[in-house]
Amino acid sequence: MKKDLKPRTRAVHAGTRRSQYGEVSEAIFLTQGFVYETAEQAEARFIEAGPDEFIYARYGNPTVAMFEERIAALEGAEDAFATASGMAAVSGALTSMLKAGDHVVSARALFGSCLYVLEEILTRYGVEVTFVDGTDLAQWESAIRDDTRAVFFESISNPTLQVVDIEAVASLAHAKGAMVLVDNVFATPVWSRAFEQGADVVIYSTTKHIDGQGRTLGGVILGTTDFIRKTVEPYMKHTGGSMSPFTAWVMLKGLETLDLRVRAQTENAMALATALEGHEKLNRVIYPGLASHGQHDLVQRQMGKGGTVLAIDLAGGKDAAFRFLNAIEVGVISNNLGDAKTILTHPATTTHQRLPQDQKDALGISAGLIRISVGIEDQEDLRKDLFQALRHV
Ligand SMILES: *Cc1c(COP(=O)(O)O)cnc(C)c1O
Repeated sequence: MKKDLKPRTRAVHAGTRRSQYGEVSEAIFLTQGFVYETAEQAEARFIEAGPDEFIYARYGNPTVAMFEERIAALEGAEDAFATASGMAAVSGALTSMLKAGDHVVSARALFGSCLYVLEEILTRYGVEVTFVDGTDLAQWESAIRDDTRAVFFESISNPTLQVVDIEAVASLAHAKGAMVLVDNVFATPVWSRAFEQGADVVIYSTTKHIDGQGRTLGGVILGTTDFIRKTVEPYMKHTGGSMSPFTAWVMLKGLETLDLRVRAQTENAMALATALEGHEKLNRVIYPGLASHGQHDLVQRQMGKGGTVLAIDLAGGKDAAFRFLNAIEVGVISNNLGDAKTILTHPATTTHQRLPQDQKDALGISAGLIRISVGIEDQEDLRKDLFQALRHV
């Protein structure tokens, strides 16, 4: 693969390994194991497997390797390890590098399962975790200590779409020798320049935009070859969180159209957010691409675009939110995001139901808040649908 190709070309071609048949579409090597021609070859491969030699699908597989190479090329990372889900990636990246006595600083506004890993699991094994408001650099600065091993945050938080300044947090972390791990789902590989901005490790739930059509769970950890092969791989291959070859094939096909989908979704999201802003039945419209977003300058600097998700806060609370959701005709009520289909979620009663009220208040998860993951449908159809549903409120 030539080095100077643009991301959109890499997303289509990078990492391709053709079999002797010269297939156009990537082959699914749906095999758990590999046959050795001789006992000597088996022995040699267990001593050290070459770059195109495989032993067992939990360790690696040709289809999975294609996906890892393609997404690493797209993101500008040296290497990648593909995992069974986004949470296998988040927990694997953290657990593989941490040990008892280590200190981690994390943003508090996290996907529920990420919060569980940091707050309940890592602490059980003797890791100390300090939570901060991810948008407040002074809090990061005072929380990161000489013995801090890692900082962790979602570059755009769910569901209130607050943005963490990757460059600023990375420079604070690096000054103390801590590694920077970024859960980059909402930014997507299309709008992300997280590695350039100082991230050491970037994590995606590929369930979201990379599959983008709601079929499979998956995840990926990206970083230096040293970190991926010496820290992540031994942990993942022995604990069992590897991606299946079939999933890797779905994700490879997803990467081919990722750029087209995410651009179309982002354009739709920007248009809908603009149209909805100021609507009489809404307290506010939250979208990182709007000038009214509190961190608009940072969004422009860090991503250049607002992404594929917006949130609206209905003035009438839960009752208004439910009436609105039940009147939607084109979008669907569900809890995935990044899909080709527009998906609407009421976080307070679903994804964030378990949070105590004071934490919902602190994170801005009000009773009227609806998250809208904007799909690739016709923009005019989506706009009409949202406005007709608002009339039912
Ligand atoms: C969905 C999501 C995850 C978890 O991914 P799964 O594929 O569902 O395991 C982690 N972080 C963020 C920000 C997510 O949106």
